[in-house]
Amino acid sequence: MIQLFNTLSRSKEPVEGSLLRIYSCGPTVYNYAHIGNFRSYIFADVLNRTLRLAGYRVEHAMNLTDVDDKTINGAIELTQKEPGKYADLKNALAAYTAPFTEAFFADLKTLNVVKFDYHPRATEYIPAMLDLVERLIKKGVAYEQDGSVYYRIGEKKDYGKLSRVDLEKNKTGTRYNTDEYDKDDVRDFVLWKAEPQTGVHWHSAHGDGRPGWHLECSAMIHEIFKGPIDIHTGGVDLIFPHHENEIAQSEAGYGGAFVKHWLHCEHLLVDNRKMSKSAGNFYTLRDLLNQGKRPEVIRYFLLAAHYSQKINFSADALHQAEAGVEKMYSLWQRGERAAKKAGEADADFAQTSLDARKKFTAELADDLNTPRALAVVHEYFRVANSLLDKEKDSLPMATAQELQETIRHFDRVLGLIDLMPKAGIGADLQQLLDERNAARAAKDFVRADALRDTLLKAGYKILDTKTGSHLEKIKTDA
Ligand code: AMP
Ligand code: ZN
Repeated sequence: MIQLFNTLSRSKEPVEGSLLRIYSCGPTVYNYAHIGNFRSYIFADVLNRTLRLAGYRVEHAMNLTDVDDKTINGAIELTQKEPGKYADLKNALAAYTAPFTEAFFADLKTLNVVKFDYHPRATEYIPAMLDLVERLIKKGVAYEQDGSVYYRIGEKKDYGKLSRVDLEKNKTGTRYNTDEYDKDDVRDFVLWKAEPQTGVHWHSAHGDGRPGWHLECSAMIHEIFKGPIDIHTGGVDLIFPHHENEIAQSEAGYGGAFVKHWLHCEHLLVDNRKMSKSAGNFYTLRDLLNQGKRPEVIRYFLLAAHYSQKINFSADALHQAEAGVEKMYSLWQRGERAAKKAGEADADFAQTSLDARKKFTAELADDLNTPRALAVVHEYFRVANSLLDKEKDSLPMATAQELQETIRHFDRVLGLIDLMPKAGIGADLQQLLDERNAARAAKDFVRADALRDTLLKAGYKILDTKTGSHLEKIKTDA
């Protein structure tokens, strides 16, 4: 049985049912996602993989916020740069968000995140959002003012149950028109924002406008799952006001329960400050790949701490992650090469393997404890390596198979083996080459040259031939 810490009750609770519906708050596609954002997406991936490993069926959605203040500003800038190119601002918005959406999917793939079942985009669910606005008005918890519609939080008796905000501080009758605001400043929040015809807008009974960010997730969850869901995830910064407001909207608008389990992952920090776009202290996945970091090392680094703990992004932590990955790869290859002998499997090792698999699953079942699961993995590696030492790298096929199956079992959650560099040119180098070719095709020569230099530093030069580009290892005299 899986136990997960529920932010709502502040305690661990068992996960019940066999089909689990999960929703994870995804990116705002106004920029490349940074590695802090990826902490929360990889956390969603670990949850998904752990539940599947434990035999649950999972339906998992991660949204894309493709309309909000930031994306709209980007669209406006596009139209200013190239006047007359876009039929209207909505067109410009789509053009502005498309490359970031594409990059996001590419990055998920690079980090070996298992495909989500749904990726709803906010702009494709406007009718559902307007339907929710009308439901809330009918229920008497929402009101219109100057063409915008607000949620009257005083009408919801248990408002604040997730974040436990102090409702005494509620400034009754005052409201927020922006999506983000502070915990100490609890007010009515905007569901639908009036927007002049010159802005990105949709028609509504309240005049032209666009959805507030919080409304988007509530409406999309209802459209996709048609009822309450089992688990909702996001970073801790989303507890208030985003998730608090989702609860208020969904419970009042659709009636009944909304989410059973709320899961929040802590932040990735840089020098003890949250990595964020606004603070400017962020690295995108692309930045790190360009510096020669490997995706599997980043993945391992993010798994090495429990999701409820803050982690600092540091060179030292990345080195440790690299060592962890290398241990796994070298044992995997050693095991492959050692499958030499016929004969019976080593019974002791078979038992050790079985125990390790069980223990690994049990650690994850206890609130996704990835650091303890990794400790099980490394203890198993120690035993396996000493067996290989003792047997001089020659094992019965059945024993080698047992070893590989056990690593595969771990990897169903860790997700590292697929990223292992293939013989010859490593997968990461090939990826850099692919990216450089894409940059060249897009005439982004600055980026293409930067990637060429990264490859040179890694010891490879690019040969552009009629049949395509290839990498050649630079010969050294040593
Ligand atoms: P945003 O694009 O800022 O809306 O964030 C998208 C997701 O990334 C949300 O679930 C955030 O909570 C999460 N997130 C943002 N910054 C960090 C960080 N430094 N560490 C972990 N998660 C983060
Ligand atoms: Zn959301």
